[in-house]
Amino acid sequence: MNKINKVLIANRGEIALRILRACKELGIKTVAVYSTADKSLKHVRLADEAVCIGPHSSAQSYLNIPALIAAAEVTHADAIHPGYGFLSESADFAQRVEESGFIFIGPRAENIRVMGDKVAAIEAMQGSSVPCVPGSDGGLSTDDNKNIAIANKIGLPIIIKASGGGGGRGMHVVEKIADLLTAIELAKTEALSFFGNAEVYMEKFLTTPRHIEIQILADEHGNAVHLGERDCSMQRRHQKVVEEAPAPGITPELRNKIGKVCADACKAINYRGAGTFEFLFESNEFYFIEMNTRIQVEHPVTEMITGIDIVREQICIADGQVLSFTQNDVKIRGHAVECRINAEDPNNFMPSPGKITQYHVAGGLGVRVDSHIYNGYTVPPHYDSMVGKLITFSDTRLGAIIKMQNALDEMVIDGIKTNIPLQARIMRDETFRKGGMNIHYLEKMLGALNAI
Ligand code: ADP
Repeated sequence: MNKINKVLIANRGEIALRILRACKELGIKTVAVYSTADKSLKHVRLADEAVCIGPHSSAQSYLNIPALIAAAEVTHADAIHPGYGFLSESADFAQRVEESGFIFIGPRAENIRVMGDKVAAIEAMQGSSVPCVPGSDGGLSTDDNKNIAIANKIGLPIIIKASGGGGGRGMHVVEKIADLLTAIELAKTEALSFFGNAEVYMEKFLTTPRHIEIQILADEHGNAVHLGERDCSMQRRHQKVVEEAPAPGITPELRNKIGKVCADACKAINYRGAGTFEFLFESNEFYFIEMNTRIQVEHPVTEMITGIDIVREQICIADGQVLSFTQNDVKIRGHAVECRINAEDPNNFMPSPGKITQYHVAGGLGVRVDSHIYNGYTVPPHYDSMVGKLITFSDTRLGAIIKMQNALDEMVIDGIKTNIPLQARIMRDETFRKGGMNIHYLEKMLGALNAI
């Protein structure tokens, strides 16, 4: 390492443990930070140092920028890894970290800022020939006639989205022109109250798309590569439930074409770090929807098929190193599937925090478990309900699914409810086994099971 000898991990749960493991392999010291509800987290016990940064409320702990910077100062950390969620996509945090003299393990603040504004992100992508959804090309004005003309030109149905949006909230689908103006007004009011920014824009509403995303890595010396795609179409309420790589039906030609466009876009915007270009995929065409400027929950499936440790690469890039491989070195082999394991009732999706009384973990060749839980650990009620990820890898897609089915059957997590029974049902589902489902399939399947 050139500059990074100690990393402060500004996160919790499985991703904090994931980052700690990467640091240990690189011989880097670690600082865990935790809220008062998280003293017994696994990575807190394994880190070289641990600092309590506040009470259980995220606003006062994991989102508390002064507390995080102070923790980095007192422990003499060199760099801060934000993980995902919390402050990972806050341009202000990235800026404050760097202004305070620390390395932010992530992109430059200006890249995060542009990508955090969807209208600005789409503009940046159009400048780099990334295919976008036909739309309003910018925020909507207050000119009703102009907005009607835009909708007619795009063709109904359309979707109204917030520039500052996130988490699948505040979107409105319009089927008839008569409903357009009311929907725009409603979307603006919601955008202002949810995201503090009233700007909204219009896109063609794709009716049966798949969600396919491209993982990229870029260093600060102008090199950028893609690591292929992931299929994350199995979603409930816009939340991913199962992810896989590669995406069924994507040919090497299509992968290389869209992957190169994404890597070139990274070079054009001077991007640094790991990132994901999210696309809707319909009728064999990709349509950009947003870029995530951070590590993602589903990164392990890409690691399994490429053999590249993405978190390790993030740290090496932040250390100022040149990417140690080129696009030609990236080889995709086999198939990987990831199931998110949530502490929730599999029938009504209500969170199920509490004490884990029995924990038996799955294992075997091609089975990976990324989780912070252990026997006797209490899942606190204050945070996201995800308690881990089960990842399987095999030569073929069916092989990975069968391995997953067996691994899910092997897992025992007692004391709390989990979605393991639902995941096991998905793995046995015939349509899922065929592959290539669109983003509505899981909710349809759950509806048929009477579970939503
Ligand atoms: P967010 O940042 O709130 O998650 P996204 O732009 O990523 O917003 O969209 C979230 C989800 O909404 C997508 O995964 C897709 O299911 C749906 N969606 C967004 N835009 C469109 C569109 N143009 N056509 C159809 N569905 C869309």
